[in-house]
Amino acid sequence: MRLGTLKLNAAAPRHPMLSAFEENELLDLMSDVELLLKYRNYSEASVRLQQVMEEHPDYLPAKEALQEVYRLTGQAKRAQDLEKEVRALSDQRAKTQLSPAAKEEYAKIERRQFAEKVDGLIRIIYQGQSLEETFETTATELLSLLKADRCLLVFAEDARHGQSDLECCAKDVDSCLDEGVTELLQVWFRENPRFDSPIVSQPAQRDPGLALFRHRLAQHQIHAMMAYPLIYKSSSLGWLVVQQCVPYYSWSEGDSTLFSVACGHLATAFENLRSFSELQDLAFKDGLTGLYNRHFLKERLGVELSNAQRLQYPLSLAILDVDHFKRVNDTYGHPAGDAVLRKLGFLLKTNVRKGCVVARWGGEEFLVVFPNMEMDVGALIMERFREKVAQTIRVAEQVVTISAGLAQARWDSVSSLDEIQARLVEEADQNLYAAKRNGRNQVHWNPLTGANPSVNVPPTGVASASPTLQLPF
Ligand code: GH3
Ligand code: MG
Ligand code: MG
Repeated sequence: MRLGTLKLNAAAPRHPMLSAFEENELLDLMSDVELLLKYRNYSEASVRLQQVMEEHPDYLPAKEALQEVYRLTGQAKRAQDLEKEVRALSDQRAKTQLSPAAKEEYAKIERRQFAEKVDGLIRIIYQGQSLEETFETTATELLSLLKADRCLLVFAEDARHGQSDLECCAKDVDSCLDEGVTELLQVWFRENPRFDSPIVSQPAQRDPGLALFRHRLAQHQIHAMMAYPLIYKSSSLGWLVVQQCVPYYSWSEGDSTLFSVACGHLATAFENLRSFSELQDLAFKDGLTGLYNRHFLKERLGVELSNAQRLQYPLSLAILDVDHFKRVNDTYGHPAGDAVLRKLGFLLKTNVRKGCVVARWGGEEFLVVFPNMEMDVGALIMERFREKVAQTIRVAEQVVTISAGLAQARWDSVSSLDEIQARLVEEADQNLYAAKRNGRNQVHWNPLTGANPSVNVPPTGVASASPTLQLPF
């Protein structure tokens, strides 16, 4: 078909469900489209064709003409989808003429193709390493298989765990995730509480259940929606939704089955990922403070040291310890001691720079790794942190203080990375004990050159009265 010479395909088989009157009406409409195309008014032609397809989703000439409009306006993906669609419809029509044996053969081929699609999709669903990645890859595949424009994951409130809803849009399609659409979806889910098959609204603009939301549907060009709950062992994680912005393809029963199968597997994959991350947390994190534990820190420090050596940047480390913590436990009880550790862990996590690694080293000792940082800068950060602790952490009006020791990795040609790591921790530890010996509530380090720069030697157990150090950033 060339530009301006659109002719209705006279050979196109008449849709069996069309009356002569409807067919005449359609022929008139298609003549209008022909004129619009002649004058290159593609947008209006596209609107008219979409109207035809909303009324008669299987009317082949309209699909062929729209395919041409997409091609002429550079919407290659949609043109390709429609081409497949036209081919499938033509095949379907041709099949009605087939012998029973040939029909059976066709059915077998279709079943096999469907099984292959499902197989491919399932493989993708279980490959993801995180919820976000799994959603992204599955949604991208679903957009292609279901010729959809958006895929959304709307979490159930009690399964949200602080997570925002997720959305994946086809190329050139705008996001629709806003409060308005969330409200619309929640109403739609609530009013369709059946779980045996996906809920479908096609076209959504004419869905009486969505009558209140017509302007929102129009605002985001939501033409059709299909949704299914993500259920794992009878509890709902949320809903998966696909949307179409343009009415050029109607979802079939096969599409709806494929979608529900995908949702079942997705719910299982999400649950697997969640329990795996809980296990990982148990293995790597300290239960009381939520910081990394000693085991993880040792591994991580090895990696950080190797990076620092390879890229030739400095790496410093601080060990800090609560002063007279035993007294806190003895005077106020173990739970009060636990609360101090939790506060300290939180303060540490939220007060060191991005890129630093913070861990509970054991008991009331914590460790901070400063990659790409000279020890004197790390010491100033620790000094500022020491002041903050003395100003903010109290147990029954009693000030809690910390002491800290620092060290910087020293490279030489004979030591292995393990030896460098052991020496680094050992030096920081010795400096921590020097701070304790000197009276506590202070930061101690041995500069690579120069004298012992213990800062702030206040009376034991009392918050610092030292002058504030100016930080270089
Ligand atoms: P110093 O200033 O010399 O560090 O004195 P300290 O009392 O802080 O040090 P010491 O090593 O004598 O005591 C540490 C105490 O920390 C002993 C131990 O019972 C307590 N502790 C270790 N882990 C925990 C914990 O998880 N919770 C609580 N509440 N106490 C803990
Ligand atoms: Mg202590
Ligand atoms: Mg200790």
